[in-house]
Amino acid sequence: AGITIAQTNMNMKSVSNLSTHAQPLIIAGPCSAETEEQVLATAHQLKDAGVSIFRAGIWKPRTRPGSFEGVGTPGLAWLQRVQRETGLRVATEVANTIHVQQCLQHGIDVLWIGARTTANPFAVQEIADALKGVDIPVLVKNPVNPDVQLWLGAIERLEKAGISQTGAIHRGISPLGKSVYRNNPEWNMPMTLKELRPDLMLINDPSHIAGNRELLAGIAETALALHMDGLMIETHIQPEVAWSDAAQQISPQALAELLAKLSGRPLDA
Ligand code: PEP
Ligand code: MN
Repeated sequence: AGITIAQTNMNMKSVSNLSTHAQPLIIAGPCSAETEEQVLATAHQLKDAGVSIFRAGIWKPRTRPGSFEGVGTPGLAWLQRVQRETGLRVATEVANTIHVQQCLQHGIDVLWIGARTTANPFAVQEIADALKGVDIPVLVKNPVNPDVQLWLGAIERLEKAGISQTGAIHRGISPLGKSVYRNNPEWNMPMTLKELRPDLMLINDPSHIAGNRELLAGIAETALALHMDGLMIETHIQPEVAWSDAAQQISPQALAELLAKLSGRPLDA
């Protein structure tokens, strides 16, 4: 039997406002915060699309140097405007103590740890230590290598530091050779985590698995069929000109259409 939505919402009460709806948790927003206008315009369009949490990368962990690495701290004020103007909760990626401190100073609601960071226990421990005494929801992406123990270990480091609302994000594994996916889903990886920790909220990130808009819907559908608890989908006001991950982002309108199609999800009672 899968995780029931009721259980999920008990775990993640302050992350999810879905406790009265049998609906997956939807996190959406651009790969990167680029400009104040882009962030606000995207958030305003997402507000009524069934989205609970607005995401935007402020510090971007690019695989190779030479591309856009994020706007940094000034972007946090844009996320505060999103909170004020839309009522959406906001989430961003943290990879070190300074990121954590900046996010806490700016009242960010939810943090996530990126795949490259999850693979490094020193970095995860640094983040966990920076969060001592602060109970903010933290979502942990699977590491870039297919190691469920390393994924779980990162979550445990946060829990040991006193974080009571942890969750996992499945974003796939970089393939060595040719693949239709940017990151192979390796569905048995999140399923193994779910077996080990049925209490954990498990969210699927079809955007980083697909790497392109065309494969998004099928991956999202599979995730919900496997009873995952939510989706994180990169959404941009003008996806084709995004400063990062342009090929995989969709417009808020396309997101609304995708979610409408997915709403026929089979739920186990
Ligand atoms: C992201 O969510 O924009 C991101 C960088 O993801 P990942 O850590 O999964 O590569
Ligand atoms: Mn991205």
